[in-house]
Amino acid sequence: SSRLTGRTALVTGASRGMGRATALRLAQEGALVAVHYSTSEEAAEEVVELIEKDGGRAFAVRAELGVAGDVHELFLGLENGLRERTGTTDLDILVNNAGVMGGVKPEDTTPEQFDRLFAVNAKAPFFLIQRALKNMRDGGRIINITSGLTRFANPDEIAYAMTKGAVDQLALHFAKLLGPRNITVNSVAPGITRNGNPVFGIPEAVEQMAQLSAFNRVGEPEDVADVVAFLATDEARWITGSFVDATGGTLLG
Ligand code: NDP
Repeated sequence: SSRLTGRTALVTGASRGMGRATALRLAQEGALVAVHYSTSEEAAEEVVELIEKDGGRAFAVRAELGVAGDVHELFLGLENGLRERTGTTDLDILVNNAGVMGGVKPEDTTPEQFDRLFAVNAKAPFFLIQRALKNMRDGGRIINITSGLTRFANPDEIAYAMTKGAVDQLALHFAKLLGPRNITVNSVAPGITRNGNPVFGIPEAVEQMAQLSAFNRVGEPEDVADVVAFLATDEARWITGSFVDATGGTLLG
């Protein structure tokens, strides 16, 4: 289908994992997609090539998030890419997906690790929204990737879960602010989802993780990307400020 023809999208952390799957999915629907990455240049260029081979439109944008000047750098690349291809810098869809995982026991978490987690996972999305609103057309879409860990206890991920708890707040308050512009703001919460982590190469570990889902499998990046893509369409116009559980039933207990 082509429900997003004429729209432009920025997906942060789109070189790998769910961000990659989301970029591919939005492009399939017709959006021009900015594929953001930090270090994985080759992987990001590959995503762009894949999209183009499929008849879609995309370009890569580099910026490390969580450091001074991050948003400025990202938007320089974004606006150049948009201007070249559309003649404007208008943005319709922002997917705040880039994030760093925790995996540190509370007794071992250092203030530096804590600050880094918050800088990348929570502070960057806030300031990306703030900046993106200068470019965003009425009817735009903001989708923030949070985590089932905001509703499911895991003592090895407290600091990480705290960052995602903060991310959840973005939907509530920005949705109220932006309703008059018909911009929707929602959170999507994945459960355990396959990515490049070596743990997904260990069959026994995957089997254990699978049991957390009602469907007895781990999530695939596409499982989450489809949900994000739906929220980006006109069909999702009446959903805003929501926490969308995309954990494959993990929160059912
Ligand atoms: P991956 O670990 O596969 O990829 C992370 C992406 O984010 C990469 O594109 C990476 O860019 C980018 N990124 C990471 N740190 C930075 C940074 N400091 N600045 C800029 N870009 C950065 O991601 P997943 O698909 O596993 O996760 C995506 C989102 O979903 C994250 O927010 C994560 O917290 C959340 N999530 C993941 C779950 C899971 O089980 N996988 C479960 C619940 C939530 P580069 O390749 O250039 O390094």
